[in-house]
Amino acid sequence: MPENCLFCKIVRREIPAKIAAESEQALAFYDINPQAPVHILAIPKAHIENAMAVKSEHSGTLFEVLKLAQETARKEGIDKSGFRLIFNNGPDAGQAVSHLHMHVLGKRKLAWPPG
Ligand code: AMP
Ligand code: ZN
Repeated sequence: MPENCLFCKIVRREIPAKIAAESEQALAFYDINPQAPVHILAIPKAHIENAMAVKSEHSGTLFEVLKLAQETARKEGIDKSGFRLIFNNGPDAGQAVSHLHMHVLGKRKLAWPPG
């Protein structure tokens, strides 16, 4: 599964991506189809399918994912104006890539509730 996973391939640099930030266990890169002026994906380097597959052993990795979201929000100048963090999980949420990813969306007013 990780062999064919799109985001695992980005982690292994087999597919190009514009990297926004990186740490030992996490990677942040720009979404290829941005839905806001800032749209970054922060992911664990390890293959975790989605939010339902997260276990306590992933806690350190998940913290690194959130740290990259903070770091890139600061870099992009949206740390004070605000931004949204989203994990789409499963079909009803429209999860298209089965490798856990946190969307970091900002630099525009975001509607609530989401569609
Ligand atoms: P989701 O619908 O939550 O699974 O989000 C998947 C996201 O991955 C979408 O926002 C896509 O635009 C994005 N995406 C798909 N392929 C790539 C890629 N090669 N590089 C960067 N982002 C991608
Ligand atoms: Zn993967």
